[in-house]
Amino acid sequence: MVEKTALSSATDRVLIMPFRKGGATGYDLAVTSPEATVEDYLTALDTGARRLVLTRSRNPGGRCQGCAGCCAERVPLTAIDFRQLTGCRDMTGEAFRLLTDVHVAAPGVDIVLKRDESGRCALFDPARGLCRVYHARPFVCRTFICCPTSRRAAELRAAVTNAGEDELVRLLLRERSFPGVDPADWRPNAFTGRWHYREVRLRDCVTPSLWRRLYRPGREKGRGERGAAGHQSPANPAPARKHSARAAPLAKASPFSSRPR
Ligand code: SF4
Ligand code: SF4
Repeated sequence: MVEKTALSSATDRVLIMPFRKGGATGYDLAVTSPEATVEDYLTALDTGARRLVLTRSRNPGGRCQGCAGCCAERVPLTAIDFRQLTGCRDMTGEAFRLLTDVHVAAPGVDIVLKRDESGRCALFDPARGLCRVYHARPFVCRTFICCPTSRRAAELRAAVTNAGEDELVRLLLRERSFPGVDPADWRPNAFTGRWHYREVRLRDCVTPSLWRRLYRPGREKGRGERGAAGHQSPANPAPARKHSARAAPLAKASPFSSRPR
């Protein structure tokens, strides 16, 4: 069930609304401007996570701080995540090697944050139980909350993740080649040439049909997605991509790898 009270973001271009399912509270979202950016989305979700009492399925009654239950899962990186974490575009240097693991399952390529021997993210500080790069953590970390979400919210998150990882793979394939992987399959997209999430429009990341479900101009503020259902969690991830080349692993964010479409 979707409630009709919307929380405004700093820009008001993305609205977060409570979303109830099975007695738990999660969130739904709507976009009120064609110019809304990924940064608007992140800001609105930060605000929503602070103001709503979300039901965190893995840490009931708690908050994310000190939990880190989801920091041992696959974290796909977007091109902007990589640039913000390293300050560079170099895909052949030490920073790329230290930060990422590249998995190739031709024709797909997956670039994820490196994990340590225990399976935890290499950027997790076990002594403090905190993320070492909290304020620059990747998009999938910033948008993962183990609570129910509407279908359109889950699909938006997956679409942005996929576009961002596709761009990172496209950049990598300019420097390296892999058997069975055709660089021409990765075309420029909404992330190409962008250095910050405020430069990436949500509308450019999603299909027209998803945009129609997300876009709610001002006069419709507060209306939630009708009939939506879903739970954004590794156990019940968003729908797989059409051209899935292999079974998707359980993932903190979207389960998707970057692969040609
Ligand atoms: S989102 Fe992750 S860190 Fe936050 S409560 Fe859930 S499992 Fe823990
Ligand atoms: S980057 Fe930070 S929040 Fe994301 S998985 Fe690693 S330690 Fe956790």
